Amino acid sequence: MPELPEVEVTRLSFSARIEGARVIAVRLGKPLRWPLGLAPEKLVGQTVGQVGCAPDELLEQTVGAVTRRGKYLWLPLERGGLLMHLGMSGSLAFAEQVPAHGPHDHFDLVTGRGTLRLTDPRRFGAVVWSASAETEPAAKLLAKLGLEPFDPRFDGAHLHAALRRRKVSVKQALLGGAIVVGAGNIYACEALFEAGIDPRTRSDRISRPRADLLAAAVRNVLARAVELGGSTLRDFRDAHGAAGEFQLEARVYGRAGEKCVRCGGTVRRIVQGGRATFFCPGCQRR
Ligand SMILES: [Zn+2]
Repeated sequence: MPELPEVEVTRLSFSARIEGARVIAVRLGKPLRWPLGLAPEKLVGQTVGQVGCAPDELLEQTVGAVTRRGKYLWLPLERGGLLMHLGMSGSLAFAEQVPAHGPHDHFDLVTGRGTLRLTDPRRFGAVVWSASAETEPAAKLLAKLGLEPFDPRFDGAHLHAALRRRKVSVKQALLGGAIVVGAGNIYACEALFEAGIDPRTRSDRISRPRADLLAAAVRNVLARAVELGGSTLRDFRDAHGAAGEFQLEARVYGRAGEKCVRCGGTVRRIVQGGRATFFCPGCQRR
């Protein structure tokens, strides 16, 4: 599943090239699904190609500066904009020449400089037109997101206060995304390893000094992933078609039974809330 670093890498890979380009055609494939947890009926009428905005209304508009919030990309146009999500298996590619569309290509935004194409085999991705990022339906989709990891307001104090209000494991509190966005399964495991915290620790038992360590670890792990081009554990390809390399850097994720890089102990795999957790019992303490 594309995580925040992959989405950010995708944004960086085409934002400068598409900014200022004029939309000359729009092609829609099969209907896309919505991100989990959204009731589609609440958004009917806002989908591109349905009532809210006909594809033709996008034509002749100039693309502005693409921004990211959580795993959403906001592509502003002169009138409104497009909120895009890659879902479980989506990828966005921007290229001057694109091949004829295949069965999994469900959205093409053709501009004077190239085509932005959403390829999404499982169709959990979304392209939603909204009058602005601050109004419905974009505002509703963005409302429940936690702080950005690189926001200066996301620090140990913020994390500590938020963890104290929850009684789930610290791993699950991070995964929820309501405290900070971006700590998906891989990155939550890696950040907890870096901070030396057992993922099973109850979130309201995390001390302030450990919250400081954990906040810094979340930022570091995500910054490193963006730098390395995002992970490629599933279908991710960035807009240049290049594979990322973060998976080579994972120190506990996917390494069950292998030697811990820090202490030489054995990395363990457990399941928390239906998701696999990898950690080192020697290095990570409750
Ligand atoms: Zn260890």
